[in-house]
Amino acid sequence: MSILRVAVPAPLRQLFDYLPPEGTDTRQIAGLRPGVRVRVPFGRRELTGILTAVVEESDSPPGALRAALEVLDREPLLNAAALSLGLWAARYYHHPPGEVLALALPPGLREGGQPQPPGTPAWRLTTRGKGLPADALSRSPRQAQALGLLQAEEAVSAARLKAEGISPAILRNLADKQLAERCTLPPVEAAPAPAAKGLALNPDQQQAFDHVLSEWGNFACHLLEGVTGSGKTEVYLQLIAHCLAQGRQALVLIPEIGLTPQTLQRFEQRFGSGIAVLHSGLAAGERLAAWDAARTGRARIVIGTRSAVFTPLREPGLIIVDEEHDSAFKQQDGFRYSARDIAVKRAQDARCCVVLGSATPSLETLHNALEGRYHHQQLPARAGAGTAPSIATIDVRCQPLDGGLSPPLVAAMTDCLSSGGQVLLFLNRRGYAPTLQCHDCGWMAQCGACDARLTVHRRQRRLRCHHCGATAPLARSCPECSSTRLLTNGLGTEQAEDSLHRQFASWPIHRVDSDSMQGRDAMQQLVTRLHTGEPCILIGTQMLTKGHHFPEVGLVAVIDADALLFSPDFRGEERMAQLLTQVAGRAGRADRPGRVLLQTHYPDHPAMRAILEQSYGEQARRLLRQRQEQGLPPWSQMLMLRSDCADPRAGEQFLARLRREVEPRLPPGCKLIGPLPAPLQRRAGKFRHQLLLNAPDRRSAQYAASQMVAAAESLPGRGGLSWSIDIDPLDLN
Ligand code: ADP
Ligand code: ZN
Ligand code: ZN
Repeated sequence: MSILRVAVPAPLRQLFDYLPPEGTDTRQIAGLRPGVRVRVPFGRRELTGILTAVVEESDSPPGALRAALEVLDREPLLNAAALSLGLWAARYYHHPPGEVLALALPPGLREGGQPQPPGTPAWRLTTRGKGLPADALSRSPRQAQALGLLQAEEAVSAARLKAEGISPAILRNLADKQLAERCTLPPVEAAPAPAAKGLALNPDQQQAFDHVLSEWGNFACHLLEGVTGSGKTEVYLQLIAHCLAQGRQALVLIPEIGLTPQTLQRFEQRFGSGIAVLHSGLAAGERLAAWDAARTGRARIVIGTRSAVFTPLREPGLIIVDEEHDSAFKQQDGFRYSARDIAVKRAQDARCCVVLGSATPSLETLHNALEGRYHHQQLPARAGAGTAPSIATIDVRCQPLDGGLSPPLVAAMTDCLSSGGQVLLFLNRRGYAPTLQCHDCGWMAQCGACDARLTVHRRQRRLRCHHCGATAPLARSCPECSSTRLLTNGLGTEQAEDSLHRQFASWPIHRVDSDSMQGRDAMQQLVTRLHTGEPCILIGTQMLTKGHHFPEVGLVAVIDADALLFSPDFRGEERMAQLLTQVAGRAGRADRPGRVLLQTHYPDHPAMRAILEQSYGEQARRLLRQRQEQGLPPWSQMLMLRSDCADPRAGEQFLARLRREVEPRLPPGCKLIGPLPAPLQRRAGKFRHQLLLNAPDRRSAQYAASQMVAAAESLPGRGGLSWSIDIDPLDLN
């Protein structure tokens, strides 16, 4: 007997067995290949799943199996490699396999839609149309013209017909008369465009390039650690050219696409066509087309964000993860996977090279490199003649602050601007102010659903919760005592912008945060303007640290460096070092060495001193030693079980019971911590608790995860309690 084992997109950690659709004969069953989509009954619904295998026996008794409804594809949409990668990720992250595999398909295909035949929409004549005498439509000149065009060729693209003045209505008329019909022209085969010539690599780049090539054809993971501007992208481009010349496809993962049009342009300038770009901002049709081009091998280079790591490829030969330290590679809800880690596994499966590039590698990756599991290539200097910026603190204790700026900073800014440079100010807090308070009674604007204050957004005249997204009108009077003396406390980017307009009235000021950079092209337009070199001030959040080079920036200042200093998270210092190094790296070019100033109340804090005195690499190695002493990742493996419940006590009780059940069965060296309330205990009306596990190695962590998931699944979750597991958590909130 043949049984179809299907990954169904349902929140259950298992595959489901079905009988073949009724009326399927043995020959058809023998021709069924894993990776095709299958429509199946599921409870009272119908869902589209993916066939993972055809097996002989099922654990369910034969009478209990239902028949699948329909096999949707003749050819697999997911090839064997994509299928096994998805199933591996489902096991590793303990996530339902159907939900994981759905990620490898573009949204339109997940619901069972048919893939568009690749190609350009076009029109052609039917047999009836072909038999029509040339003057048959003389009463309608437009129809006659269309007929003439279509008679001249096998098929004409819709775009060309439009350009000739033929409206869709005319074509529909012809279709109604059964004279013409829609069709598609085959896609233009994007011959791997000959790459434009690359730059002559400098010795460090050449060494890195040669080293990667020396491992070509086998699995090898390389950390390319290169300071900002050291020419990592140039190394990627030349490795990609090599990969294409070998007839293979290259997959490039980047943290965010909207912010890096420059990177895309560089790829297009070098390689021309044949690049597929995949990210969630695409329209459904574009995404499907790009995905199909990747799958069929028509796209030679696939560039995408996190989920692109699952895209089926015909012949992968190289994987690149740019800015590998970026937390955007780790999904923080639902399926909590790390695209970087999956990329390494994927390269291993495909027996190809993977390059993880960063100026500020994560301690996980650096550890792997120092332990010899990854190859380690370094680019210690800027490419060309660029110089690294100088960095200093400004002790703001007792200084008057105007809009967050101390007098020495104002002086440095004036200096930079009047000598023709641009100034970049970093303030990682959007909105006008983080709190609104009543001066008469002390009331503070709180989110009704979270343990958090509401942020004042003056431009929109609203209060917003940055945790759950709730908004309320900006109060004019205190709801407790009706006083109109409401104060804003703390500084956000909007307020900083306002005060800059006062203090630097004659200079252009640009604010860069997720509120001001709405719309696809906003960032691109700003970047274009900045490249004119006009002196100006940029004030913005973390967004400023991503991807862009601002060659005319001569001064970078961090308005509130203290905000980074006291993090409850054990990764706090690593993040601070990464962020400050990345901000600092935006500044300067060959003839305008950059300057970096950090405003702080704690100039003698060891972490602050370290930023000044040590390179990122030195700090990272020191932090790695600390982690070793503390027995923390990457020297150990972590996982976290979170609960979420409207009842304030149920989550804690659930996790406590779970702990009692699994603790006796844990491998030696595993430690459980909790249940503890999450740092932000209530979010969006739910109370959140966590149980953390620290394990000595991956194998014990995996074993413990299975035990915890099995126990959690068997415990009754009362009162709408939900739980989730996070393997290798990055965010401990
Ligand atoms: P990264 O990706 O490390 O930030 P890029 O590859 O973007 O560095 O290079 C930074 C700048 O240096 C770019 O303007 C690039 O054109 C230039 N550059 C890179 N490699 C070379 C080289 N070998 N010779 C001359 N200029 C180079
Ligand atoms: Zn009041
Ligand atoms: Zn909220």
